[in-house]
Amino acid sequence: MLAARIRATGPVSIAEYMAGANEAYYGSRDPLGVAGDFITAPEISQMFGEFVGLWFADLWMKSGSPGACHYVELGPGRGTMAADALRSMRRFELEPVVHFVEMSEALRAHQRLAMPTAVFHENVETLPREGPLLVIANEFFDALPVRQFVRTEGGWRERMVTLDDDDGLIATDGQGAVDGAIARHLRDAPAGTIVETCPAATTMLFDLAGRINVQGGALLIVDYGYDAPGAGDTLQAVHAHRAADVFARPGEQDLSAHVNFPELTAIAQMREAAVYGPVRQGDWLRSLGIDVRCDRLIATNPARAEALRAAHDRLTSPYQMGALFKVMAITGGQWSAPEGFA
Ligand code: SAH
Repeated sequence: MLAARIRATGPVSIAEYMAGANEAYYGSRDPLGVAGDFITAPEISQMFGEFVGLWFADLWMKSGSPGACHYVELGPGRGTMAADALRSMRRFELEPVVHFVEMSEALRAHQRLAMPTAVFHENVETLPREGPLLVIANEFFDALPVRQFVRTEGGWRERMVTLDDDDGLIATDGQGAVDGAIARHLRDAPAGTIVETCPAATTMLFDLAGRINVQGGALLIVDYGYDAPGAGDTLQAVHAHRAADVFARPGEQDLSAHVNFPELTAIAQMREAAVYGPVRQGDWLRSLGIDVRCDRLIATNPARAEALRAAHDRLTSPYQMGALFKVMAITGGQWSAPEGFA
């Protein structure tokens, strides 16, 4: 289908390629877990979702425990984190209405089982316009399509996907000059430099930060990404827990790109929301008390000690998810400063 389209109308952008491939991929399977392609923090341990719930509950209480809150999860996967987070919020009498923003019908079926009361949305535009929003996105922004731009000897070009002589997919430089789309301070970068932008992420953040500023609440983003501009080409494919060729098997493997945290920060600040972080996931979880929580769980379940220690290590160790994954928060309205970003 993609090959036919390229033959008929020419190369497609990296963003169009990634959007089409991921829509087919997520629409046709549950990619999570040992039998799938990758595993995420909430699937590693219930501690992760519980800390997310605790973090929101603490912030909510400090902000005067306002009523009529909405829990909003972007790309909830199997719904595991929502179940863990809401259970931990309930202990503090925080019982928000649950909203899931999810495009995949296959994953919606899993999410309905985990959270039968959830209200589904195609995108953030239809979220309620009243009441504070408690928004969480774990490994969601990395799945949104990125555009790539490359500096050539002749100026900036968009990176495109085309066919080689054997009908395989390959990257190529677009024809038209796109220098106007490049931030001024990057325009004179050396030939070969690649920059990425994520229009879907910035559009969504613009909307969410604006609403949070008016309605109150917070947005918590947990993802792998970079905290200084200029990371280059970060598009990657994962198949059966291994790195794969990004142009092999479109729709059959997960495509993601590192989250551009400076770009998201700039958008949130433009909307006059307060931004905290990004900090490393390991540091954030430790400052919320994951070491003590893990010790307590081990004391009450000694038989699970080894599994609990392994999960704790996976989430916090800089050699595993602890340093690559970052946590960033955005708050608005009269909401207090959140924990974990000192
Ligand atoms: N947050 C979950 C799942 C991460 S996988 C976890 O941590 O386990 C990415 C999730 O985002 C999937 O549920 C996928 O279907 C969803 N998703 C990806 N792109 C999307 C888009 N453009 N709109 C809505 N949901 C999307």
